[in-house]
Amino acid sequence: MSHLRRLGTAAILAVLLSHGALRAASDGTPAPVRPEAAKAATCNRHNFRLILDVGHTAEVPGATSARGAHEYDFNLRLAQAIKQKLVDDGFGRTALLVTAGPARLGLIKRVSLANSAPADLFLSIHHDSVPDSFLETWEYDGKESHFSDRFKGHSIFVSYDNPNHRTGLLFGRLLGLQLKERGLVYTPHYTQPFMGRRQRVLVDAQAGVYRYDQLIVLRMTRMPAVLLEAGSIINRDEELAMASPERQALIAEAVSDAVVLFCAARTPHGPERLPPLVASGAKPTLQPAAQANPHR
Ligand SMILES: [Zn+2]
Repeated sequence: MSHLRRLGTAAILAVLLSHGALRAASDGTPAPVRPEAAKAATCNRHNFRLILDVGHTAEVPGATSARGAHEYDFNLRLAQAIKQKLVDDGFGRTALLVTAGPARLGLIKRVSLANSAPADLFLSIHHDSVPDSFLETWEYDGKESHFSDRFKGHSIFVSYDNPNHRTGLLFGRLLGLQLKERGLVYTPHYTQPFMGRRQRVLVDAQAGVYRYDQLIVLRMTRMPAVLLEAGSIINRDEELAMASPERQALIAEAVSDAVVLFCAARTPHGPERLPPLVASGAKPTLQPAAQANPHR
């Protein structure tokens, strides 16, 4: 298994402690808990059930990359790499959720499947694009294609309509910090007004977690649920990176370490309250348009 990196360990501990997830000493002061010790003591990997949702379907494959590839294929490859890593690390109950058919039916189907198979965590895997107004034209492989190199980086979304959104937010933060420790930088552009109805509130500026209440797979699933846009495939350089086994392995490692920490942090009733968030620049008054993204 991979090991948690030293950089950022304090930040991870802060997240866990703020959720009351690690035990305090008998006199009430926080015990000096090492992440490895916490993991070994409390995480039952064999019993932990995680659903890895492959975004979109073969028939309706989501975004088109700068080189004309389908988002669904990126999602499937990365989800398979993440699953293998989790199984290798002892999470044998990790399941890939692949659905078929039209977009909306696929969404309902995957929510229904997830809810009928009780899981500890639901993680939806996607790759990002941009609004059409940012697209530029180039020729690739003799064909006219579209790209935008303006943005790059991953982003993480949670829905506050999910009944377990506090626990989902915990995982989102742990995942964001693990990606950050590996040198991956999230994209901040979802906070910008030019994103229009796609503008989101950044709820954790350190970990890169956004609030997106309307997403069907996040709000209708009953378990803690998080959506990862792993990178931008409309960006020409990042598309190549996302297609590489090295980047997929790096992300899989980050997910697995975040799951280890999440598994260790969970209590039977979940975190009791939302922790104070890192200075986020979040605007509480900002309410994104109440429209579900039809592509999700
Ligand atoms: Zn997608």
